[in-house]
Amino acid sequence: MIKKISHIGIAVNSIEDALKLYTEALGLELKGIEVVADQKVRIAIIPVGNTRIELLESTDPEGPIAKHIKNRGEGLHHVALEVEGIEGILEGLEKKEIPLVDKKPRIGAEGAKIAFLHPKATKALIELVEPTE
Ligand code: ZN
Repeated sequence: MIKKISHIGIAVNSIEDALKLYTEALGLELKGIEVVADQKVRIAIIPVGNTRIELLESTDPEGPIAKHIKNRGEGLHHVALEVEGIEGILEGLEKKEIPLVDKKPRIGAEGAKIAFLHPKATKALIELVEPTE
């Protein structure tokens, strides 16, 4: 079951540079910054109502965020949907032959289970997120 938009992921060259806009100009508050080594990314979490913006900075020149910025510049990277029962949803999508980046969930920011669908099908990169309690 899909519950809401979990977050919008924005690829940036520098979290520190981008944060000034989101915190000083827009008045949002930074909840925290976390490194997800598995995805070679550093993530700034900025709550907005019951969802959030995540600023994504690469920790490695070969990481997915660095590649995205090289090809398309800084900007919108993915939309994440909060779900319940991520394994079952992935199985169902696989049965429908929807292309998936991750057939099994990985661990993302704040220990959540995450999986990306392939943008070939969804047109924009879509992430499923099941938060831990
Ligand atoms: Zn995300």
